[in-house]
Amino acid sequence: MRITQSRAILSAVLLTLIVLVAGPIPFANAQAPEPNAAESSVALPFIGEFEVWCTDRNPAPFNLCSRHHGSPAIDIGMEVGEPIYATGSGVVIEADAFCAGSGSCNNGAGNIVVIEHPDGTFSRYLHLDTVSVSVDQRVEVGHRLGTNGVTGHFSSAHLHYDEHFPIGQRVDLGVFVGCVDGGRVEYPTAFGFDDWNDVPFGSVMINDGFDCHGVSTPTPGELGRDVAPSIVAGLNSASASNGQLGERHASLLEAFGAHLRNLLSLGIIE
Ligand SMILES: [Zn+2]
Repeated sequence: MRITQSRAILSAVLLTLIVLVAGPIPFANAQAPEPNAAESSVALPFIGEFEVWCTDRNPAPFNLCSRHHGSPAIDIGMEVGEPIYATGSGVVIEADAFCAGSGSCNNGAGNIVVIEHPDGTFSRYLHLDTVSVSVDQRVEVGHRLGTNGVTGHFSSAHLHYDEHFPIGQRVDLGVFVGCVDGGRVEYPTAFGFDDWNDVPFGSVMINDGFDCHGVSTPTPGELGRDVAPSIVAGLNSASASNGQLGERHASLLEAFGAHLRNLLSLGIIE
């Protein structure tokens, strides 16, 4: 676990004006069906080191994550332009790239990719900037889906990720596996918890690539123009330093400030 209080507090400040995600999703009666096979979407949807923000009611400064989503989901703090990758193999069933900027586009989801996995679950990636897959396309774990963005309901850049079964009904996220230094790191157990709602805001997840899922990891040069230099440096040195993480916060804070000014200009305070 690599959590510092100062980072957590700074992130909390960022979160204070995060406008939630994609509108309410009808969720979960007690008879919700369970996926019928081993979970097939377990890879982390990024390469690098990024923070868990709100899952639903996980511990956070000022209780910011209280009933954040109202059902299982995770917000991962990351800048616009970070590549987003498939958490498992499957078929793309939705790939929308018609939204630009904040607002109610696509019911607040913004640009989105949805993948149907062999176990019957669906993974969803919201608020994207660019989308680089199309409907009916088969993808493997680690396939690049697009880039993180700020489309739909948001106020600070983050990836909203959730899993559905059946589509329209969120289910527990289960395990994320990070490939780290040739091994596997399982989250949330790496944080000392079995439940995502116990994982503190600001906890950092690490993923070097997808080799531990049997997929070759793209080299930094193949990651594309959108990768922040700090991420490439971090990959090259196996781990990012706290200084690099600090720079990332500064970048997020700058983006957040710009968005806040935009909201103020529109007379919107959320
Ligand atoms: Zn969210």
